[in-house]
Amino acid sequence: QGPAAADDLNAETYLERLYPDDEALELVNASIRANNMPEISVAPGYGRLLTMLVRMIGASRVLEIGALGGYSAICLARGLSEGGQVLSLEINEAFAETARLNVQEAGFGSFIGYRIGNAAESLEALCSEGAKFDLFFIDADKVNYPNYLEYAIRLANPGALIVGDNILMRGRTVDPAVKKKSVEAMRQFNRQFASDPRLESTMLPAYDGLAIARVR
Ligand code: SAM
Repeated sequence: QGPAAADDLNAETYLERLYPDDEALELVNASIRANNMPEISVAPGYGRLLTMLVRMIGASRVLEIGALGGYSAICLARGLSEGGQVLSLEINEAFAETARLNVQEAGFGSFIGYRIGNAAESLEALCSEGAKFDLFFIDADKVNYPNYLEYAIRLANPGALIVGDNILMRGRTVDPAVKKKSVEAMRQFNRQFASDPRLESTMLPAYDGLAIARVR
């Protein structure tokens, strides 16, 4: 990593230290380590942004793709107003169980539900059920990001927000020498995010990159 990446890291650490400890999220991270799960929860600054976005648009139906230990689900649920719900799609049953325990511990057990299985199948089922959502957080297998974006647009209420994490894939998306399928899929996702006439969007380069769109 070049000097720019080192500077980014310092800026992120500097900003992070301005915030008080977040006990609920620290417990999630501790349980992820204790269960030997990958430490790939959303970055703290983006977690706070998720809470703000949910609150700012008054989202009541939120769909998360990729649960892991429940970190981002807690961030999303924190922004909900009365009667709001988060539905989280997760392929790994053990991860979903850990997430369930963590969100319960954080006091959001009755606001967050889990659907176990391949997210593409759960999304197809949600389409058949006529489900609609106000905010989507795409944070699962990168190779399917373009599919998840199409499903999100199909399942969106007008004015819904679609947020996608890890759009830079630690710099691999930016490096034309990298031809991996997952990286090519992310590039396709990013191109569509920037140019699809159904969306107005922006992309933030901090941490591992975050895409935010509003469905017109
Ligand atoms: N959103 C979580 C957070 O910030 O707390 C982190 C999610 S982690 C980056 C990605 C998750 O997606 C993992 O838990 C993984 O098991 C799940 N996943 C991977 N492929 C999936 C698929 N095809 N369907 C559903 N979930 C999948």
